[in-house]
Amino acid sequence: MKQKTYSNTKYPMLEINLEKVYENVKSMVDLCKSQGIGIAGVVKGFNAIPEVVEQFANAGCTYIASSRIDQLIKLKKYGFAMPFMMIRIPMFSEIKELVEFAQVSLNSELETLNMIQKECESQGKKHKVILMLDLGDLREGIFYEDEFINLAEYVENNLKNVELYGIGTNLGCYGSIMPSQHNLGRLCSIAEIIESRINRRLDVISGGATSSLTLVIDGKMPERVNNLRIGEGILLAEDLEQFWGYNMKHMHKDTFVLKAQIVEIKNKPTYPVGEVFIDAFGTKPTYEDNGVRKRALLAVGKQDFGLHDKLIPRKQGVKIVGSSSDHLIVDIEDCVIDTKLGDILDFLMYYPALMYLSGNLSIPKVFINQASK
Ligand SMILES: *Cc1c(COP(=O)(O)O)cnc(C)c1O
Repeated sequence: MKQKTYSNTKYPMLEINLEKVYENVKSMVDLCKSQGIGIAGVVKGFNAIPEVVEQFANAGCTYIASSRIDQLIKLKKYGFAMPFMMIRIPMFSEIKELVEFAQVSLNSELETLNMIQKECESQGKKHKVILMLDLGDLREGIFYEDEFINLAEYVENNLKNVELYGIGTNLGCYGSIMPSQHNLGRLCSIAEIIESRINRRLDVISGGATSSLTLVIDGKMPERVNNLRIGEGILLAEDLEQFWGYNMKHMHKDTFVLKAQIVEIKNKPTYPVGEVFIDAFGTKPTYEDNGVRKRALLAVGKQDFGLHDKLIPRKQGVKIVGSSSDHLIVDIEDCVIDTKLGDILDFLMYYPALMYLSGNLSIPKVFINQASK
């Protein structure tokens, strides 16, 4: 495992440790497997970079999942043979590609399901659907139980090429609702009502995303839930620790590292001079006067990472002060180890920053530690 050298390397760059991604995915796949749960590895958070997707496949994800059909098409062309799951409710305009490239999709609209049936007929294909129930988070899914059960029966009895594969839900996205034994228990009992109506067992009960891992870790996941769609929790594993208070020490946080170069180091006042108005993005921030401090200016900005509070400086003593589209300002007064002009500073990140950085074509992606199979 030779580490790449960085001579001639462009900054900012996103360094991706493939072996650590593999270990993160494997660890979560194994935990879930021990409770009868398969993981659909969600690739949208890193723009489906194929080298990373490979780790998902090698570590035992049962599906590759994305909210973007173009990512699934790209992966298909790259040669991935495992089943693909489309996890955003499909648009009319992508039904053709959906049937062609995805084996499974999440759905909530009868009209869309009818179109999938039609498209399946013309392509001579079958397609599996997981119907989405809204348990209160108020993003996608059917909110009313009767309507939901009726739709399930409709698919089962009327759509020949569309297979009612199972039901699922999404939590903690719009309404910030926590997954619980109560709401996911309700998903399972509704599954059982549907099963009694259609006289067979549903294959899949999909109980949510990373936030639902909390129930797995606590050993409280309702038994019938047998699928989760996981992105953040196997990539960065920051959310469960930072926001939920779970100990995720066994997971690597440095799977993706932003490396940026210092272009200026100066001692400057911490409070702006003159009449404070609005910043480059039209907002009116507040500033704290901490006197004159040593700070560094890095050649990376909001255009690359979105919001600077989604970055976590790695070097001890570095504190993020602010950013504009192409600059990041950090306080380095408290750094014990000297920081010099031209130095590269490393940042770990939360999911939103990963989404922006991975999708930015002008940022090189550098892979280290290719995992051995
Ligand atoms: C993005 C997404 C996921 C994965 O979310 P994470 O929090 O990254 O695990 C799961 N399901 C759906 C429907 C999604 O859109």
